[in-house]
Amino acid sequence: MRLAGKTILITAAGQGMGRAAAIACAKEGAKVIAADINKTTLAELANEFPEIQTHVLDVRDCKAVDALADELPPLDGLFNCAGVVHNGTILDVTEDDWAFGFDLNVSSMVRMTRAFLPKMLERAKTTGTCSILNMSSMASSIKGFTNRTIYGATKAAVLGLTKAVAADFVGQGVRCNALCPGTVDTPSLRGRIDSAADPVQAEKDFIARQPIGRLATVDDMSPLIVYLLSDESSYVTGQGFLVDGGVTI
Ligand code: NAD
Repeated sequence: MRLAGKTILITAAGQGMGRAAAIACAKEGAKVIAADINKTTLAELANEFPEIQTHVLDVRDCKAVDALADELPPLDGLFNCAGVVHNGTILDVTEDDWAFGFDLNVSSMVRMTRAFLPKMLERAKTTGTCSILNMSSMASSIKGFTNRTIYGATKAAVLGLTKAVAADFVGQGVRCNALCPGTVDTPSLRGRIDSAADPVQAEKDFIARQPIGRLATVDDMSPLIVYLLSDESSYVTGQGFLVDGGVTI
């Protein structure tokens, strides 16, 4: 078991990549705490996988984040997965959407990491290594995409945040990396496809931009997530890992 003895907290674990990561980490022996704002999807997860502990958590709520950090035992792994996609060019950006996008996609990682890191640093004194994983995207400083102004800017900021945290704590046993997925077939992607004027064409368009010929599945991401949260990656920090089906070849 690659994560035996580890306690791992995952945000946005109610669906999509967060959910798949929670299941994959539990299967590798971790004690998983799955957090999400959506209590219904969390209840479904707990029902199917009773070994996974669930917590309703809005990562935009600083007090709730701090309270959970006080309540939980020290973490070995923290996967900051929560994020939102805004559509539009810079001409569509409202002050409110910009603030919301940065709050959910970036500031939530700041508040989660700031809250949980002190106990992780203590934990790392005995275990030697703890791991923080932040959800970025290929749509970031890696590559520009049309209609992704807020999203691309926030996910680029995640890469900068990841490197800053990695640099500050590399000598104290806490690593910090980022995952940069391509286009992954998750409920939110399905929502974007279904809300297009022509959903069938929208799906074809998404697939057409994948040189590998298909959308990614959540299971394409989970093995790398497990690796980055495990001691197998104990010499790896400050990196963004691109899993994009060849989009940026
Ligand atoms: P998703 O978008 O389908 O689900 C997101 C989950 O986040 C939901 O369960 C939702 O309830 C939860 N959530 C929303 N606001 C929250 C909050 N304030 N506090 C806690 N939880 C909250 O899942 P996904 O598509 O796997 O996306 C997960 C992450 O991966 C996001 O950060 C997204 O930007 C990123 N990402 C997605 C893709 C993709 O193609 N799907 C590609 C690259 C990166």
